Amino acid sequence: MIIKPRVRGFICTNAHPTGCAANVQEQIDYIRGSAIPAGRGPENVLIIGASTGYGLATRITAAFGYGANTLGVFYEKPGSEKRTGTAGFYNAAAFEEKAKAEGLYAKSFNGDAFSDEMKDRVVETIKAEMGKIDLVVYSLASPKRTDPKTGVLHSSVLKTIGKSYTAKNLNTDTLQVGEVTIDPATDEEIEATVKVMGGEDWAMWLQALAAADLLAEGAQTTAYTYLGDKITWPIYGHATIGRAKEDLDRTASELNKQLAPIQGEARVAVLKALVTQASSAIPVMPLYMSILFKLMKAQGTHEGCIEQTQRLFTEGLYSETPRVDDANRLRMDEKELDPQLQAEVESVWSQVTTENVEEMTDIAGYNADFLKLFGFGVSTVDYDADVSPLVLVDFE
Ligand code: NAD
Repeated sequence: MIIKPRVRGFICTNAHPTGCAANVQEQIDYIRGSAIPAGRGPENVLIIGASTGYGLATRITAAFGYGANTLGVFYEKPGSEKRTGTAGFYNAAAFEEKAKAEGLYAKSFNGDAFSDEMKDRVVETIKAEMGKIDLVVYSLASPKRTDPKTGVLHSSVLKTIGKSYTAKNLNTDTLQVGEVTIDPATDEEIEATVKVMGGEDWAMWLQALAAADLLAEGAQTTAYTYLGDKITWPIYGHATIGRAKEDLDRTASELNKQLAPIQGEARVAVLKALVTQASSAIPVMPLYMSILFKLMKAQGTHEGCIEQTQRLFTEGLYSETPRVDDANRLRMDEKELDPQLQAEVESVWSQVTTENVEEMTDIAGYNADFLKLFGFGVSTVDYDADVSPLVLVDFE
């Protein structure tokens, strides 16, 4: 099959297996070429949400940067003779192949991380094959969650809290800069978003591991968040998704109490805004990121997922002097939140229009990053070559 991108709004409905494998290799090459200090590092790592974006980069950093054994959980669709699988499926298949070729232990579970059944299966495998876990990374981004205790399906919403908010917005298909109005959420919608994207499931994973005595002395756990600044606060930080992320802070302090007897540590990690399948669906973010990337590239401070996770490990999780804020969160967003840079973003934000968007922002880079998520636009890949969408792999 000849596979070309099929983009509908902020979704690409297909993916290219060779392109996805090339993206994984590019991240592995980055990690191999980066400076990883000798000494403390992870050995047995569980990554929940390990197939795309930040979770995939985390898995690559742990495995190829530190030689760690990794167990990844994700929810992806395989390809068939007629249809391509999801990018995350191809990414995870490529990761496993490359890790095994290096003699690294890598096991992947494809299914619903929110379910009790998945936790049980993972626990059994860790017990049988890995021993104790010393790092648990929670990198899920999902619009829905079925609570395993009640069977209720909760759906998250991207809405404001209190009053509606109208902001500039970029249609990434037509390159029109228009406006979007986001309505306030009801109390039920806020609660549902916290149920889906808050800390409850993170805590349930830690409880499942602790109950089976699978957490090593000094084990660490982290869940990822975004904070942002003035432009994104009304739709992110101070909105429903931000409310869910605040719940991660509460969960981290609870987990710290539970981990105290084994000298373990739970921290939320604040990461930079980047193009991923999750973030491209959030209104305002594409325009904000297009402006931010142009300015950060000009400054030489722009980073992708793999650069962020490399710094998270070396300057955060395995540093003797981690950069933490007053809420005990690890901060990797310090370059994005530099006040002078944010002032420049605000200045461009106020001037950007459909007429000047290509010149004032890095919309070209944004769109290239978006297509790359699905394995398209990779310079080393021949997109006219026949490729099978069926990638055979042995996920659990
Ligand atoms: P992503 O969409 O690239 O990855 C989501 C992952 O979750 C995938 O591996 C997917 O398979 C998995 N997943 C979704 N539902 C699942 C389910 N029910 N069971 C098992 N796996 C499931 O998203 P991302 O942007 O890398 O986000 C990961 C985390 O990083 C999120 O907490 C997000 O808020 C945070 N973060 C993202 C950004 C950003 O700009 N992208 C910035 C800071 C923090």
